[in-house]
Amino acid sequence: MDSVFQRNDKKKGHMKYFKRNETRKINIGGVKIGGGAPIAVQSMTNTDTRDWKSTVKQIKQLEEAGCEIIRVSLPDMESAQNVSKIKKNIKIPLVADIHFDYRIALEAIKQGIDKLRINPGNIGSKDRVEAVVREAKKAHIPIRIGVNAGSLKSAQNLHDNNSKAKALAAAAIEHVKILEKLKFYDIAVSLKASNIAATVEAYKIFASKRNYPLHLGITEAGSLFSGTIKSAAGLGIMLYDGLGDTVRVSLTADPVEEVKAAHSLLRALNLRKSGIEIISCPTCSRTEVDLIKIVADMEQAAAKIKNIKKPLKVAIMGCVVNGPGEAREADIGIAGGKNEGILFQDGKIIRKVKSNEWVSTLIKIIKDRVKG
Ligand code: SF4
Repeated sequence: MDSVFQRNDKKKGHMKYFKRNETRKINIGGVKIGGGAPIAVQSMTNTDTRDWKSTVKQIKQLEEAGCEIIRVSLPDMESAQNVSKIKKNIKIPLVADIHFDYRIALEAIKQGIDKLRINPGNIGSKDRVEAVVREAKKAHIPIRIGVNAGSLKSAQNLHDNNSKAKALAAAAIEHVKILEKLKFYDIAVSLKASNIAATVEAYKIFASKRNYPLHLGITEAGSLFSGTIKSAAGLGIMLYDGLGDTVRVSLTADPVEEVKAAHSLLRALNLRKSGIEIISCPTCSRTEVDLIKIVADMEQAAAKIKNIKKPLKVAIMGCVVNGPGEAREADIGIAGGKNEGILFQDGKIIRKVKSNEWVSTLIKIIKDRVKG
C-alpha cells in the first residue's frame, strides 16, 4: 500500500489533504457517510433510553457540542417505543443499538429510526433477519455491523494481535455476507478491539475486501485523559492511512467529551475544515503572561461560538521567540510580551493588547468574522 504522501504525490504533486479510502456512500437520516463525504462525528448517550426526556436532554447537549449522529441503546421494547418521541425533539440522526432481539429492531424502524446497529448473525433464524432487512430496505435505513473483540467468541482466546484482527475481519465479513445475500448494501462496518494494533489491522483487512463505509473507534479506550490519547493514537493511524468515514471516540466520561475529542482529532489531522484550531506554546521561563489560564479561558469561550463554517487558526503565544512567526501564520494571533502582546490578523500587525484583554479581543474578532 502506498503511503498517503505517495498517493497524493501521484495525484497532485503535493499533499494537501489525506487521500481517503474510496467507499460507498450511505445516508443516515440526511447525513452522508462514505463516498468522500466529510467524516462525521458521532457519540452515544449514556442515559436510560426508557427515560426519553433525559435522553433528549443529553442529545441536545451533544448537538450543541457538534455531535452529528447519535446512537442510543435499545435494550427492550419500552426503549424502542420511545424512538419517535426522541426523534421529534432532536435535530441529528438517531441510531438504534440493538442486540439479539429482532423485534426491537422492527419496532425501532416502525418508530422512524435512522439507522440500526445490529449484527445480523446474532438475531436468530433466517426469517428474522429477512424481516429486519426487508423493513430496513423499505424505510431506506442503513445497518451498521459492529464486531467487537470483547463479545466475539472467535477472538476471545486469541492473544496475538494479528490473529485477533483476522478473527474480527472474518466475523464482519460473515455478517456482511448475510446482508449481501438479501441484496442489502446500505451497510457501515466497525471492527473494534481495545488493542490498537488489532483494531487497525482488522480495519485494514476489512477495507481490502469490501468498500462499505467504516465507522472507526477504539473500544473501551478508558478515561477522559488516557482514553482520548489511546483513541487519538489508534484513530490517527487509520485516518492518516485514509481509512474512516465516521468516528466515535469512546470514553468513560461525559459523551460531550467524546464529541470534543473527535472534533479536535479531525482538526489536528486537517480532516475537519471548520471550527477554531487554537495553537499555543507550552510556556517557559520567557513567558510573562498567564498563558495557561488565557488559553484555557479562550478554549471555553471559543467552544460557545457556533456556525463557524470555515477553519480558523488562532495562535496564542507566550513570547517573541516563536510568537510572531506562529501568530503571523495563523488567521488571528497574539505574540506575548510583558503583560501584553502584539495582535496579528491575516499576517499583519494590528496593535498591542493587554494580556487581560486577549480573550475578549480574540473572541470579538472571531465573532465579527463569523458574522461577516
Ligand atoms: Fe517560551 Fe516563547 Fe516558546 Fe512560549 S513561544 S515556549 S514563551 S520561547
